[in-house]
Amino acid sequence: MSLPRTWQFDLPGTNRPANVLIPERWYPGIQPVWPHCTSSRIYDAINGVRAVVIHATAGSSSEGAISVMRAGRASFHWLVPDENEQQHGHVVWACVPEARAAWHVRNNKTHPDVWNGRNRVNHYSLGIEVVNLQTPSDTFSNWQVAMTARIVRYCWEKYPNLRHVVTHAKLDPDRRRDPGTNFPWQTFKDLVLQEPQPLEALMADTVPAHDIPPAKIDLCSECSG
Ligand SMILES: [Zn+2]
Repeated sequence: MSLPRTWQFDLPGTNRPANVLIPERWYPGIQPVWPHCTSSRIYDAINGVRAVVIHATAGSSSEGAISVMRAGRASFHWLVPDENEQQHGHVVWACVPEARAAWHVRNNKTHPDVWNGRNRVNHYSLGIEVVNLQTPSDTFSNWQVAMTARIVRYCWEKYPNLRHVVTHAKLDPDRRRDPGTNFPWQTFKDLVLQEPQPLEALMADTVPAHDIPPAKIDLCSECSG
């Protein structure tokens, strides 16, 4: 089985998406927490962003993940709700301003494939947490996977030096397994690199049926005779 500690892909410099929107809202009451669980970036807030790190919460609720932020132990930029939460299918929680470094990877954890092994990953990355128990029976919903991919596409459009999309497990394999073996990495990667066009966009490129002249049909000899 493919393991999360091996999962990474790098975004090409070309074919970057445009006009990607994510349905994000600030998690209620989250702003006062920031001074206790985020840092000023040591790199430029736009040009210095090189990586997106994919996590799963190993918990059952958004509030459970937020409680870790309130305790000042960790933080992340976005939180994708679980399928049993009412925001699922509608809203992605914004939790930390993108311009600040969230605390989602330990400072001494590195990998040669991620900006040549530079440490302090939080300062050049963005973190996405997906609410999931990481148990064999808790699968990720299609919407969770699609939203995670869309956030990455949003980042790909916005941050010109963003290259690496990597799991927490790859950066910290001794301590972490997230997002877990249930996360459909290949599907997620396909959605990031070639997100299917929404129906509206496909329709915009088509010609209304009544504007198409009737085709000249060569009837077979039996019918035309
Ligand atoms: Zn993690």
